[in-house]
Amino acid sequence: MAGEPQSDCLFCKIVSGEVPATIVRESETTVAFQDINPQAPTHVLVIPKAHHTDAAALAAEAPELAADVLREAGEVAAQEKADRSGYRIVFNTGAGAGQTVFHAHAHVLGGRGLNWPPG
Ligand code: 5GP
Repeated sequence: MAGEPQSDCLFCKIVSGEVPATIVRESETTVAFQDINPQAPTHVLVIPKAHHTDAAALAAEAPELAADVLREAGEVAAQEKADRSGYRIVFNTGAGAGQTVFHAHAHVLGGRGLNWPPG
């Protein structure tokens, strides 16, 4: 069921502490942690604690939580000082777009020049 923890979900396991992560910020409803394979000097993932499959499902099922994730993504960028030169908030949505973990997450990327269009 939407919002319930999934026993086979990596990011649910990070929320519960079963899988360790370098947490940089936490709120009542969200967790932000360092990506294990960073693509930029700042590469932090912001996730809702509740399980929703992707950004579109999160927005449809829990719009206030989607807003929490976006707000926290901005706070992470400021905390990491990535807001000084610009940063990117990315939600890969669907396997064809590169989504590999099916628990909604925002990538916060910054600290270097970012090209457009992305690959
Ligand atoms: P996606 O490809 O689904 O948009 O993003 C998933 C992200 O999760 C990837 O950037 C990947 O490096 C990161 N990731 C995968 N496994 C782990 C893990 O065990 N710990 C952390 N911190 N990040 C992970």
